[in-house]
Amino acid sequence: MLTNPFYAGIYRYNYRDESGKSHVVKAAKEWVMVEDHHPAIVTRERQNRIATLLQSRQRGLYSNGLTYQRKNTHIFAGLLRCGCCGSSMASTIDRERSDGWRPSIYMCTRRRRFNDCQNKYVSDITLGPFILNFIANMIRVSNSFGKSTSIETLEKKLLRGDVFSNVDHIERPGLEELYAHLRSGFDEMSFESTGVQAAESASQIQERDLLLAEKRKLERALNRLRSLYLYSEDEMPEKDYIVERKQLTDRLGEVDARLEEVEKLAVDSLTLSDEEFMAKASYFILTQQLQDKRYVNYERFIRKIDPQIVKDFLNSIVTNFCIKDGLTTSILFKNGLEIQFSYKSTE
Ligand SMILES: [Zn+2]
Repeated sequence: MLTNPFYAGIYRYNYRDESGKSHVVKAAKEWVMVEDHHPAIVTRERQNRIATLLQSRQRGLYSNGLTYQRKNTHIFAGLLRCGCCGSSMASTIDRERSDGWRPSIYMCTRRRRFNDCQNKYVSDITLGPFILNFIANMIRVSNSFGKSTSIETLEKKLLRGDVFSNVDHIERPGLEELYAHLRSGFDEMSFESTGVQAAESASQIQERDLLLAEKRKLERALNRLRSLYLYSEDEMPEKDYIVERKQLTDRLGEVDARLEEVEKLAVDSLTLSDEEFMAKASYFILTQQLQDKRYVNYERFIRKIDPQIVKDFLNSIVTNFCIKDGLTTSILFKNGLEIQFSYKSTE
């Protein structure tokens, strides 16, 4: 699911019918697929080129010996929901560790204000490794998924690593949903790039739709005129036919020319700005690094990559994480998939 089609470097738009209230998926033939829209996950050559770019940018920004951690980015801020009362969780910075790292801690806002919720706080130290390793496992499993992969194997691969040793199982509904989507070739599961979606402005879509409707109307009129001239009992003078036809074809020519302009405009607006490109490139590096390692060392990972990038990445795929007594009880993804964890009892 994380691989297709977004991570294959293809951006798909005109995918959902947003004219009405419900978000209906359009017929496949109407989708517009932009290949090489952003860096594909697969090519090493490209990866190296982007890595060099990112490094040179970092050198420029952090030449004063500053490290990322000094910025105190709360990676999970805004993404955590209290598993006891449903409130959001507020972030603060924890004390400095001997190696200089200052992790974030997150606490139920209701508990903080009214002290009537019993949920414990959660720290980056436990949350980070759990989340990043789970997402890394998801990327790996979706890449290695085959038609013969069983749901039990899927679950085992998702929970691979010591960080999941206290997880008993993943609840069936979410696991089955993920399994079904992986089996169907993850077509419906792609995470959409919100930044790029906005690039296709509503007015362009509207004008394009209007032009297409007029084009179809003109084509139908031309066909009708032709049948009328050729087959009608009341004979149509040839001169009238030619005049009528010219009017219609002239207008059709204008519509076609404008359509071409509008479509070119839509493509141009899809060209990523430097900033967007760097963000996409960073996600690409990030996912590459996540899947390359058997175990993701969270602390080392966020020191190596800008924490803001990790934060943006999480925000682009996850709606929220539900936290109860220091444990991640569920992950709600942007596409509606909810993975719920059941823990071993600690008695
Ligand atoms: Zn609470």
